[in-house]
Amino acid sequence: MSQYRHTKVLIIGSGPAGYTAGVYASRAMLSPVLIQGIEPGGQLTTTTEVENWPGDTEVQGPDLMVRMEAHAKEMGCEIIGDIVTKLEVNSRPFVATCDSGKKYTADTIILATGARAKWLGLPSEEKYKGFGVSACATCDGFFYRGQEIAVIGGGNTAVEEALFLTNFASKVTLVHRRDELRAEKILQDRLFKNPKIETIWFHELDEVIGTDSPLGVEAIRIKNTTTGKLSEVPCKGVFVAIGHAPATELVTNILETHNGGYVKVEAGSTRTSVPGIFAAGDLTDHIYRQAVTSAGMGCMAALDAEKFISESS
Ligand code: NAP
Repeated sequence: MSQYRHTKVLIIGSGPAGYTAGVYASRAMLSPVLIQGIEPGGQLTTTTEVENWPGDTEVQGPDLMVRMEAHAKEMGCEIIGDIVTKLEVNSRPFVATCDSGKKYTADTIILATGARAKWLGLPSEEKYKGFGVSACATCDGFFYRGQEIAVIGGGNTAVEEALFLTNFASKVTLVHRRDELRAEKILQDRLFKNPKIETIWFHELDEVIGTDSPLGVEAIRIKNTTTGKLSEVPCKGVFVAIGHAPATELVTNILETHNGGYVKVEAGSTRTSVPGIFAAGDLTDHIYRQAVTSAGMGCMAALDAEKFISESS
């Protein structure tokens, strides 16, 4: 049976943007409620060392998120382990329905649902997902002890995953479609110095090759992006790290988006196309996408929500 619960500020999402909004909205005495979503703590819970969070030379991503949650809670933010499945925004207050059946009414909403890993969309990638194909090295790397692994991509995630996987693999092959990485220089430096990692330039994944029974990966077929020539790289695991897409399913047809699906906010603010709904973090940011910039936007969203509430009352 559904129960209604009212809050001035409903925060949806539990990454750096969500928890920071929780801290600021709590300190503004708005008694926010934060719904964590399907992956409490967000993307940082699937990383290892974070070396660019100010104040910590090195911190484990999952530990940082536990600390952020505790901080928001300590300030007075109510944190709920549930998933918002539906938003109704045509009348006030807004209504959010959760997977548990609970319903929340809210004067303002801070959306901080983040982004999730992109896939290439190959049928063979889909076939072997969970059976050799993964998008999370920290979740699945352990299964490939002493084996060969391939990583696809050239950004920070791909390089971090390749480096992390050398803890388990006998060899890691990084396959990138250009001859230049997008990753930070410090990560590139570590990659090129690591004797377990080989980089194959100008290639993209053409197909994952494996067995049917049991389901398992044996190799990847890769295609030269300039000549089209195909070749095979033996491996037992394939980690796809080709970027992230904003998690905007909840607000499709509700909020204006741009730049390929990112929620549009007014320049210099977190105000979306619906007054009273604010967006912060990776679902609105197609440029910076860092933990620290997400946290900054979470702060902005709480301040914007506070202003909206005081001006509406
Ligand atoms: P990203 O920076 O967008 O990089 C995606 C990589 O995948 C690019 O090298 C891209 O190639 C490649 N790619 C994209 N589509 C492809 C396709 N269809 N086939 C083959 N390759 C493809 O994504 P990310 O690495 O996930 O990082 C996302 C954001 O999070 C970035 O802003 C990053 O800085 C941030 N991040 C930061 C840290 C950190 O600070 N420690 C860690 C992880 C992520 P091209 O280069 O040719 O476009």
